Amino acid sequence: MLVCQNHMYSPSPTAQPVAGCKDCSFAYWLDYFAKTPPHKRAEMVEMLIEAGMQLVEAERRGELDEMALYSLPQVQIEKNALPD
Ligand SMILES: [Zn+2]
Repeated sequence: MLVCQNHMYSPSPTAQPVAGCKDCSFAYWLDYFAKTPPHKRAEMVEMLIEAGMQLVEAERRGELDEMALYSLPQVQIEKNALPD
């Protein structure tokens, strides 16, 4: 089982890795890689390398907003919002 010993994070549909923790990120991405069909893994690795290079370039240009990078989506549930 993949677990970040610092935060006891283990990949699951409901758990969120702790932003900025390399061990949480490692567990998350290794789990993601393991669940990717073998014939798609090379494509996934290429995509991650490209995304990483874009982040490095954005950081070099001073355009990387770390707060936005680690922010989680906001979800709001309204009661009785659905029509009858
Ligand atoms: Zn962690």
